[in-house]
Amino acid sequence: MAGRVGLAALRLPPLPSTGELVKLYRLQALKQLSQNFLLDPKLSSKIVRSSGRVRGCHVCEVGPGPGNITRSILEQGAERVTVIEKDDRFLPTLQLLQDASQGRLDIQLGDVLTFNMEKLFPDDLACAWDGTLPKIHIIGNLPFNVATPLIIRWLHDISRQRNAWVNGRVRMTLTFQLEVVQRMVAPPNHPQRCRLSVMCQNWCQVYHKFTIPGRAFVPKPDVDVGIAHFIPLKEPQIPLNFKLVEKVVRCVFSFRQKYCHHGAAVLFPPALRDELVTKLFTVADVDRKLRPFQLTIFEFNRLCHAYAAMVEENPRLATYNREKPLIEEAEEND
Ligand code: SAM
Repeated sequence: MAGRVGLAALRLPPLPSTGELVKLYRLQALKQLSQNFLLDPKLSSKIVRSSGRVRGCHVCEVGPGPGNITRSILEQGAERVTVIEKDDRFLPTLQLLQDASQGRLDIQLGDVLTFNMEKLFPDDLACAWDGTLPKIHIIGNLPFNVATPLIIRWLHDISRQRNAWVNGRVRMTLTFQLEVVQRMVAPPNHPQRCRLSVMCQNWCQVYHKFTIPGRAFVPKPDVDVGIAHFIPLKEPQIPLNFKLVEKVVRCVFSFRQKYCHHGAAVLFPPALRDELVTKLFTVADVDRKLRPFQLTIFEFNRLCHAYAAMVEENPRLATYNREKPLIEEAEEND
């Protein structure tokens, strides 16, 4: 619709501001749900613009709350918007937007951590993984304690081209604590380089789009907020199973300031450790005296492949897991 119809036709009728609606419906931010509202429409608009062009696209917004970002997505001409919100107190304000949106807004009450987006988008928007980017976007300002576990889950989904990513390389624009975004984009040798940097950069191109000061939110969080944009890569830099890569990266970073062989040793049971860690670094041709944050993604690639070959030789190594994974084993059956 938006592709053919001018933007003026999609403009929403005059509505009370989100701030006024929050007051009218007494929508106090709940501390236990870590809710912080962004009530400045210029900033909501900027978040939506930073996702790329949403005009004529299907957008899934996670955690819409009172609907400020939703409103900007609609105003920028999205053909269809699906919102996934956990807190039903926001239904009246979202329904108001729904009524004003000429049938473009679909409201789903649910938990984004378990929501399957596989059937959410029309089939004709799907693109081949190595083709153009689909006209589908995911946008969200979620609580910090939800956003980080969620992106790890979604990276796993990207690695398996499932959930929203059955439709191709769906882009995401999400907010995080500024420091987390800095870690996500950190290159080797950067003080913020960590396992999250390697995991994000292995499956996506990650951009830190801009920063919003904490004071722009109500109530004000203790930290500033970074807007991150993710575009799934056609080919991951380390083309191996997500859980294997995650395990190697997690172990190597378990002693961040020590030589990387100390962390890598944790991959192996104590009785075999010295012998196997020497083999790992020899086969991978990586200097064991580098610190984890100095390793490039190519060196991680060689370490992961060497470890995969060792697991193939001795499958019992796969079950040895001293450190807690980013994704709990219990959640995963694959
Ligand atoms: N998008 C609004 C904004 O920018 O002002 C609200 C942001 S507030 C930080 C986070 C929103 O995510 C809240 O509306 C909260 O209820 C919702 N939320 C929190 N956890 C969620 C979950 N697991 N699934 C869906 N929504 C969730």
